[in-house]
Amino acid sequence: MAGTIPAAAPFFGAEEREAVDRVLRSGMVAQGPEVAAFEQEFAQIVAGRTSVAVNSGTSGLHLALIAMGIGPGDEVIVPSFSFAATANVVALVGATPVFVDVEPDHFCIDPAAVEAAITPRTAAIMPVHLYGHPADMVRLGEIAERHGLAIIEDACQAHAAALHGTPVGAFGKTAVFSLYPTKNMTSGEGGMVVTDDPEIARKLRLLRNQGMEKRYENEVVGFNMRMTDLHAAIGRVQLGRLAGWTEQRRANAAYLDAGIAGSGIVTPAVAAGATHVYHQYTVRVSDEAFPGGRDAFAARLTERGVGSGVYYPVPIHRLPSFGLTLDLPETERAAREVLSLPVHPSLSEGDLKTVVEAVVGQ
Ligand SMILES: *Cc1c(COP(=O)(O)O)cnc(C)c1O
Repeated sequence: MAGTIPAAAPFFGAEEREAVDRVLRSGMVAQGPEVAAFEQEFAQIVAGRTSVAVNSGTSGLHLALIAMGIGPGDEVIVPSFSFAATANVVALVGATPVFVDVEPDHFCIDPAAVEAAITPRTAAIMPVHLYGHPADMVRLGEIAERHGLAIIEDACQAHAAALHGTPVGAFGKTAVFSLYPTKNMTSGEGGMVVTDDPEIARKLRLLRNQGMEKRYENEVVGFNMRMTDLHAAIGRVQLGRLAGWTEQRRANAAYLDAGIAGSGIVTPAVAAGATHVYHQYTVRVSDEAFPGGRDAFAARLTERGVGSGVYYPVPIHRLPSFGLTLDLPETERAAREVLSLPVHPSLSEGDLKTVVEAVVGQ
């Protein structure tokens, strides 16, 4: 429909075009100085942790698990309410994803459910900072410490989110950010793995590059998961825009909060001490709140020219790729009720007004 407000709107300006052109003119486009500079600069948003660039968030999670020594016989506790990549990577390294429920307020992994799922085989916990809201890293950190488990943060949706002043990415042994176009910043495709462990950082660099640090001296069996300098050049420009964009997302969310309050549609809750960066602005639409429930509500938004998205309509454990039957009631309820409204920084005040009016039915 002409004039539809899109649910996501990646932005590329003159600076991104110039950066790509600079790399093209250099004649060297594969991993090189732009990637190295991007890694140095990215460290600034993760409390100075070492950052290793790869070709996607999924690659980053995959390499992080291998670098942490997780493989066959190990269990990794994951939320079922996430993007499939969260669990796919666990299966791809030969480990077993153990799916647990989320808490109902922020849709992040439920620490009590994590603790109940721990077995002698548990190697790690993989919390997802879903929609840009930090998972409860305080309780998860205590649980991990008590049981001697590693934490790998899936921070793919949460660039610059924080909890009690600590940025996400600085809690786990490793953390991974996605740089896919619809994320809060992009390099085209790409990912960044961050860690405070120099040995893991070295393994990550080896694994992304055929197992080599020095050419033709392959130390381990590795992949080609390198980021290109073209992508890094775009990512560097977008990193410079991130703080302003995050502020705009938070301001847009505040506008939506105020406009939607009292309508019966449940606006996103923010935990005490949390900085939500609103990768998605996700509301809950129960059957009681809107006749016909979430899907009928989404249809009304479409009629009024407001794009929306459902992340995620099917919990990972029930996808054909895993095909499990589990009792995860909050995950099922979320999959039925959530809807994400436009919140991206390209929205005008008029767009925001249109979104609110469509939501409250004015
Ligand atoms: C986007 C995303 C990924 C994967 O990132 P890609 O860059 O698309 O490979 C993993 N986990 C979550 C939660 C994501 O949102």
